[in-house]
Amino acid sequence: MKRALFGVVVAVVLIVAIVFVRTTMVAAPPPLASSPPPISVNSMDVARHLAAAIRFKTISYGNSAHGDEKNSQLDALRAWMEQTYPAFHRAVTREIIGKSLLFTWKGKNPNAKPILLMAHMDVVPVVPGTGRDWSHDPFSGDISDGFVWGRGAIDDKGCLITLLDAAERLAQSGFTPARTIIFAFGQDEEVGGSEGNGNVAKVLAARHIHFSWVLDEGGAILNEPFPGVQQPVAFMAVAEKGYLTLQLVAHGTGGHSSRPTHDLAIARLSDAVLQVVNHPFASGIDDIQKEQFSVLAPYMPFFQRMMLANLWLTGPIISHMLEGNPETAAIMHTTIAPTMISGGVKDNVLPPQATATINFRLHQRESIESVLEHVRKSINDPSVDVRALTETQSEASKVSDLHDDNGKFIVQTIADSFNGIPVAPTVTTGATDSRHYLALADDVYRFDPFHMGPDDMSRVHGTNERLAIGDIGPAVAFYMRLMQNLK
Ligand SMILES: [Zn+2]
Repeated sequence: MKRALFGVVVAVVLIVAIVFVRTTMVAAPPPLASSPPPISVNSMDVARHLAAAIRFKTISYGNSAHGDEKNSQLDALRAWMEQTYPAFHRAVTREIIGKSLLFTWKGKNPNAKPILLMAHMDVVPVVPGTGRDWSHDPFSGDISDGFVWGRGAIDDKGCLITLLDAAERLAQSGFTPARTIIFAFGQDEEVGGSEGNGNVAKVLAARHIHFSWVLDEGGAILNEPFPGVQQPVAFMAVAEKGYLTLQLVAHGTGGHSSRPTHDLAIARLSDAVLQVVNHPFASGIDDIQKEQFSVLAPYMPFFQRMMLANLWLTGPIISHMLEGNPETAAIMHTTIAPTMISGGVKDNVLPPQATATINFRLHQRESIESVLEHVRKSINDPSVDVRALTETQSEASKVSDLHDDNGKFIVQTIADSFNGIPVAPTVTTGATDSRHYLALADDVYRFDPFHMGPDDMSRVHGTNERLAIGDIGPAVAFYMRLMQNLK
């Protein structure tokens, strides 16, 4: 008994010692890298451009609804770009593919792989019934209280305009990039991008173009990235989740509702949906998160640092905490979201079939094939067909490297542009147009050079979307630096 107790005490002391040593081994925050003097850009000039761009109602409704209206707005936006960015247009060649724009800015070294800078020109609609909640009309492009207001201010006209303003300034100065820069501005990112960047990517693939790296929207600078972290951190998405929608079609015996059998399509469908929801996919802290924690840990107070430095012990606790928040949970596993259900046409008629739609966002652990298998196994009923909607599906992306030459270059540019800010990897849970280029690039990164507070996320695709004027100049400077420093 005494020996057992002694053993327990030794074990506890050992664990405490390991935890303590590992925690103290986490380096104190490194001194901020000395960054070259910032390129000064007048934010207000660019803010006016962003406001003008917001006024074009380039809304993607899906199912090609209001397509003519959107196309004429895209035409008008393109004409406005031509007028507003004349030096850029003189420096590049432009191709119009569908309504999307492909610009090529020839670099000095034709043998170096080109890079691709992306943004999309379309925006999501204002949710019906929420128009009145906007403090500024969503398409007025108002500039007030230090912000540019309107749909698309962040997503993604903010990137589009700061990128164009950066290129215009460089073109005005007679700049030629060290290697070729290609710009792709999509027309339909918000509805999957198949007509826009889907087709642009096909054109480039046919020309055998292979990019060194691609930069699209995705991550951002978070002002309050984690409880206890007092300083902003740039999150760059090195991967994005896959996308899969499945339709479950349950069959049964139709007929009069006064004489039901036990072969009920709706009951069978309900059971199938529940089975899927009750069989979640594997979850846990992955390598991207581990690396993210290692970037964040030095900036944390002792207790949190101790937790993150000792995942071998605290992993299950941290996982449990992250699982408790839908936003962080979505990063840890393949999500299951039943979104539509239908069946039957009349209250006294048994339908012979009923249909449910479930949307999955795939973690890197899963493939479309493995999700299908998992779902079919969970349902385990031959009277329920499982069909994939193939037009919208995409596998989870590959994970790009933050530590190869491409990753180091972009991380350094972010640090130089934003006061030596730490850069942590993340995963985008939504899909971006960059997925069309995964096969055409060594690395694909996703980052918006803007600061986001805790309530800004809900403005994207939500109400009162806006971009701080103070963020606009630095974003232009960031893109300028990115193009200037290419080797
Ligand atoms: Zn977007």
